[in-house]
Amino acid sequence: MKPPNTETIIYRLKSGLPDELHRLLEQAGRHCLKRGESLYIAGGMVRDLLLCLPGKDIDLVVEGDSHSLAIELARIFDGEITLHEQFRTAKLSVGGFSIDVATARKEAYSHPGALPTVQAGTIEDDLRRRDFSINSMAISVSGENYGRLIDPLGGFADLEGRLVRILHPASFTDDPTRIFRAIRYEQRFGFQLQTAPLKLLEKGKGNISSLSADRLRYEFECIFAEQAPEMALARAYQLSVLGEISEALIFDKTEAKWFEAARGAYSPQAVPFALYMALLNYRLGNEDNNKLIKRLNLPADAAKTVSGISRLKQKQDDLKKADMRPSDIYYLLAGFDPLAIKACAIACPHHIVKKRLELYLTELRHIRPILGGEDLIRLGYSPGPAIGQALLAIQEKRLNGSVSSRQQETELARNLLQDSKPEQ
Ligand code: ATP
Repeated sequence: MKPPNTETIIYRLKSGLPDELHRLLEQAGRHCLKRGESLYIAGGMVRDLLLCLPGKDIDLVVEGDSHSLAIELARIFDGEITLHEQFRTAKLSVGGFSIDVATARKEAYSHPGALPTVQAGTIEDDLRRRDFSINSMAISVSGENYGRLIDPLGGFADLEGRLVRILHPASFTDDPTRIFRAIRYEQRFGFQLQTAPLKLLEKGKGNISSLSADRLRYEFECIFAEQAPEMALARAYQLSVLGEISEALIFDKTEAKWFEAARGAYSPQAVPFALYMALLNYRLGNEDNNKLIKRLNLPADAAKTVSGISRLKQKQDDLKKADMRPSDIYYLLAGFDPLAIKACAIACPHHIVKKRLELYLTELRHIRPILGGEDLIRLGYSPGPAIGQALLAIQEKRLNGSVSSRQQETELARNLLQDSKPEQ
């Protein structure tokens, strides 16, 4: 099939974008013409527009200077900008929209895994430096060319053929993050990596070790942001890509079920990064777990969750014991990271342990005495450690359900603090 004509693309732009944004693009394109420059929408938004999917981010590419253009557009539209020097990009925030503006550029890689060196180029140069043909299309937003599709690398044909195709044989070696990106698109759209790119992926995956912790972690953030990250992770495992990060990592149907269960517990796009990460690491032993935390330079909260998993697994035998009182469960689990407990509740195979972990998360951890220290002081008891101990004893009874009202707590406190009551 032929690519959609300009009228169809203009129609899709108009119907797919909020009115203000569409007007803004038209106006920005006209402004660029006055500067003698051409402006384009490029990358993922063009792909999604051609697939009739809702777009997320807007990436504009100008054959000219992105910084001065962004400054002028911010003035015209009363927006705000952030400028990034390294790749001559700018982020423009206008009326609640966030738009990236970049100078069309050429790139070169000094060594695999490195960030590229860049120089200004044409829109075609800019499309040629990209990852896959389906992400290497642009739509002109300049004057009479408005709505024209620029597709020098056969991106539309690959969308139709449902292919994820790299643009040159060294692509995965130059930038191994593309391995994760290829797997994501393949799984998100139900596309295919053909035999030749798969062989190159196989060759390039050795370079994953050259990626910095932050770049590698970002790829996991992107995978976890997919609607069904388990599909990309299962594929990454099958292609031995996960094995390049840690030989101990496994991702099969078991992990996939845990990921689905995590989405059942949160709204689909709101599963915390740390929870997915903990489930991914659940089967790892302590040492491999710590290595992975380091390899991905996990932020402190996620590292706490992931390392909590190993320690919690050691408590599972205690949590299986018969006749555990709610307070026993509480004291065993208090101090553990709640997300680590949630991950164990999802992944642990023992019904009774799961139930107790959930009981802690949903009820026990929130139970506090109604009375506070000030209430007891108001009753005439002098401040000191005895008050703290009395409150802990009250909490224990509340956890076990043997006190439930303010009056019962007050009576209990009176008994417990008999000796510390000052003369009336
Ligand atoms: P998504 O829907 O996953 O956000 P996207 O295409 O918008 O898809 P981004 O990560 O925002 O993805 O990247 C924007 C564009 O930049 C891509 O469409 C692609 O053209 C280009 N790009 C991103 N990462 C790379 C890379 N590692 N190598 C080459 N080009 C890249």
